[in-house]
Amino acid sequence: MVDLISQYQKIKPAIDSAIMNVIENAQFINGPEVSSFQSELESYLGVKHVIPCANGTDALQIALMALDLKPGDEIITPSFTYIATTEVMALLGLKPVFVEVDKDTFCIDPTAIEAAITDKTKAIVPVHLYGQAANMDAINKIAKKYNLFVVEDNAQAIGSDYYHEDGTVSKTGTISDIGCTSFFPSKNLGCYGDGGAICTNNDELAAKMRMIANHGQSKRYYHDVVGCNSRLDSIQAAVLRIKLRELDSYIIARRKVADYYDAFFSAFNQIITPVRGKESNHVFHQYTLKLEGLDRDALNVFLATKDVPSMIYYPVPAHRQKMFSAFGSENTILPITDWLTERVISLPIHTEMEEEQLDLICSSVAEFINQQ
Ligand SMILES: *Cc1c(COP(=O)(O)O)cnc(C)c1O
Repeated sequence: MVDLISQYQKIKPAIDSAIMNVIENAQFINGPEVSSFQSELESYLGVKHVIPCANGTDALQIALMALDLKPGDEIITPSFTYIATTEVMALLGLKPVFVEVDKDTFCIDPTAIEAAITDKTKAIVPVHLYGQAANMDAINKIAKKYNLFVVEDNAQAIGSDYYHEDGTVSKTGTISDIGCTSFFPSKNLGCYGDGGAICTNNDELAAKMRMIANHGQSKRYYHDVVGCNSRLDSIQAAVLRIKLRELDSYIIARRKVADYYDAFFSAFNQIITPVRGKESNHVFHQYTLKLEGLDRDALNVFLATKDVPSMIYYPVPAHRQKMFSAFGSENTILPITDWLTERVISLPIHTEMEEEQLDLICSSVAEFINQQ
């Protein structure tokens, strides 16, 4: 699905010397690479505070820990997402309230949010799924009306621009109280191990999240709140500093792949290509098709026989996961989410794709359709 080896070959000298530099200076934890990466990411995103942490799941957990919520408080979130988004809610004793997504953008449907609000609702966690932003203007309006926090799961959309109704532009992850992202190797800005970050424009939340990520410590060996241990290590920060400079060109490369697929698949009425909403520019973490009247799982198997990888993100929506059975979540009625989980299939998309590979993938899909 990705080709991280070819991508590395292109930046090898810079990466190798940056990693060696960390080793030679032995500043493995909280070294200068981490603080430099932090400020470079702050200026790239145009946000006041970036707090690096160990991974995207921790970023979400730390964000929710900073909101002073009580057990049983409710958080409205899509069911059609990676498990990490909602798992941390249950871990903290909070109740995920699953709502529908928009069938075109795959992101949380703002009209479904308002209907799910109760007097226990404290926050909304939208996910910018596959690299396209949720409708943040609409979500922020609802949050303001009901006095709710908004925490963006930006793990799949870092670098995406959001076009506000008032004409201003901001980067996803900076449009709400807190934005969370992941630097898992296959993400659009990936490191060579685990990594994550939290961002906010709120000074108070930033200070609190920094403290939580560092054992709730206010000064050395004085611990004011229960926290955790979540650090980005210096080697990963050194890699990320180099890859951050490439991020915009990586996004362009991904979009070119998406354009190629869009043009090819437009000829097939059994295939619905990704809808690009007007609220943001799609950074195509995934290129995800919806199939009409085709056996999705059979296509998945057929492509494997052609050595073409394809993936189902995600085969089981969160509300149907056993993990959440204590909440009775499986009784939630989410027909669009269920419809999508049966019909989506993601094709390879990355920064190093060759036309030959695209040809093989497209002609393999066409061959499957022609056999039907
Ligand atoms: C990858 C991902 C995460 C979790 O990030 P990790 O770094 O793997 O912990 C959370 N949410 C979404 C939507 C993701 O894609």
